[in-house]
Amino acid sequence: MSNDHSQAYNTGKRKRVLVTGGAGFIGSHLTARLLHQGHEVICIDNFLSGPKRNIKHLLDHPRLVVIEQDIISPVYVEVDEIFNLACPASPVHYQQNPIRTIKTCVIGMINMLGLTKKNNAKILQASTSEVYGDPELSPQPEHYHGNVSVSGVRACYDEGKRCAETLCYEYRRQHGLDIKVARIFNTYGPRMQINDGRVVSNFIVQALRGEPLTIYGDGSQTRSFCYVDDLLSGLQALMATPRDVGGPINLGSQEEITILELAKRVLLLTGSRSPIKHLPATEDDPKRRRPDLTRAGGYLAWAPRTKLNEGLVKTIAYFEELLRLEEESLTL
Ligand code: UDP
Repeated sequence: MSNDHSQAYNTGKRKRVLVTGGAGFIGSHLTARLLHQGHEVICIDNFLSGPKRNIKHLLDHPRLVVIEQDIISPVYVEVDEIFNLACPASPVHYQQNPIRTIKTCVIGMINMLGLTKKNNAKILQASTSEVYGDPELSPQPEHYHGNVSVSGVRACYDEGKRCAETLCYEYRRQHGLDIKVARIFNTYGPRMQINDGRVVSNFIVQALRGEPLTIYGDGSQTRSFCYVDDLLSGLQALMATPRDVGGPINLGSQEEITILELAKRVLLLTGSRSPIKHLPATEDDPKRRRPDLTRAGGYLAWAPRTKLNEGLVKTIAYFEELLRLEEESLTL
């Protein structure tokens, strides 16, 4: 199966692409890749969960425009394509201000769909495996309707993202918009924040600092972690599909692992002697998560190719450097 989707996406024509959340973890990687491929990029970010330093190395780029703004407020720019990635995605962050999270998902989506319509552009919505809630079936295919709590602490994100998807489908039905919905499963890699709060960055940072690795609950819950470069290829492949392919399409890894096993893996790869510490389980924490990738394979000829160990080694190297720089600046 081919994994080089730049050909399908890069038809030789320079595009004007809006990336909302362009300074975030996935957004900053996407912005860099689009610039590298020769496109013009407009990056909109409020720099709340994605700091400006994520795109610092790109700020002088002649084909990049950065707009500091929240997508909750209307915006007008001329573009060919929109990747709507703006929204905190770490449970710790999206639960900090749940109402704002809902507004970003819903009002932000309405604003971006309106912009798509005005520009006669296409839009890719970064949806999430969280739309499946705590799934009763595994792996999760796109036709599964999910098991989401409407009132739990994750609902602001889960229901917000579900409503955002519905808005996409209704804009397609009512206005014929070219929409693409990607359901992104757990993704990791360099440029996650030290205080991101998600499990991969937490475990790596804890291991490198010699602190206990914090497992919420008994660690038997599973996730399947996709390396960020693979995810970007999937997003671009989906954006390049013909108009009749709108999704939803799952994008993620099928290498399922328990959180306890992940902790052990990180300890092994970092050579850390940190202990493992069990903390109380968090509310509504999904017990299993693994994407059914049949659609991604069929429509996009896409499958991730980076093995978990390989991606973890790269991510560990990133955090080693980040922590070294942090220490250096403290001793100056
Ligand atoms: N988790 C954990 N320790 C941490 C952070 C997360 O045990 O320090 C667990 C969390 O309870 C969940 C899984 O790791 O079961 C993945 O959490 P994350 O926040 O990365 O993403 P989620 O898939 O829950 O959105």
